[in-house]
Amino acid sequence: MRYGGNTACLEIGCGDRMLIFDAGTGLHVLGSDLSANRGIVGGDLKYDLFFTHTHFDHICGFPFFQPAFDPSNKLRIWAGHLLPERTIREVLIYLMMDPLFPIPIDTMRAKLDFEDFEAGKILYPGDDISIRTAPLNHPNGATGYRIDYGGRSICYVTDTEHVVGAPDQNILGLIEGADYFIYDSTYSDDEFAEHKGWGHSTWQEGARLADQAGVGTFVVFHHDPDHDDAHMDTVTEAVEAVRPGSIVAREDMILTP
Ligand SMILES: [Zn+2]
Ligand SMILES: [Zn+2]
Repeated sequence: MRYGGNTACLEIGCGDRMLIFDAGTGLHVLGSDLSANRGIVGGDLKYDLFFTHTHFDHICGFPFFQPAFDPSNKLRIWAGHLLPERTIREVLIYLMMDPLFPIPIDTMRAKLDFEDFEAGKILYPGDDISIRTAPLNHPNGATGYRIDYGGRSICYVTDTEHVVGAPDQNILGLIEGADYFIYDSTYSDDEFAEHKGWGHSTWQEGARLADQAGVGTFVVFHHDPDHDDAHMDTVTEAVEAVRPGSIVAREDMILTP
């Protein structure tokens, strides 16, 4: 209730540009906010939506994103884990298909563009934004992102499983010296052994990676839905003791550079 029950969705502002990462149930909240409070629907705006991957908790908000139904908007959709077997267009068509959803993707009247790439590439979505990417260790693949803009940087690294005692070099390379590092902290080290193979990591591993890569602020993210507020309070205390100034993500939280 306090930390938030929506699944993954981040909005990252770079000047006038808005980048969206993942389309969990949080995307519905973002879409409603954009149309109700910020008057952006109908404003002829261009959105970029980047998927870490297409497991259900990261895509299920997509059909409920109001701005995608407005013909004056443009939505460019990126994914780095599907080639060569599939494309993100194909996956989203399936998501909104009989018998999974009542209306097909064609009912989205915004102009939709689809950009599949291979994780590891650097993306330049425009306006001097550069986005480095790296493959993560997750069943069916996932992509980690580092967004650099105006001399500031934020990394979004979920979902990924670590190997005990062997820090992920792809991640260390990606997050080196970044201002913010948002990391898959589904479990604690105590819980990790019984969840091997699930594709997730721990807040302690996040803190270790943050230290080794010299990042500014570590952000605990992708909370296990079985962890209630009281449990998350204990995580907040524990992470503060290990890496003071770290943040445990909450619904509607805003991070400023
Ligand atoms: Zn996943
Ligand atoms: Zn997930």
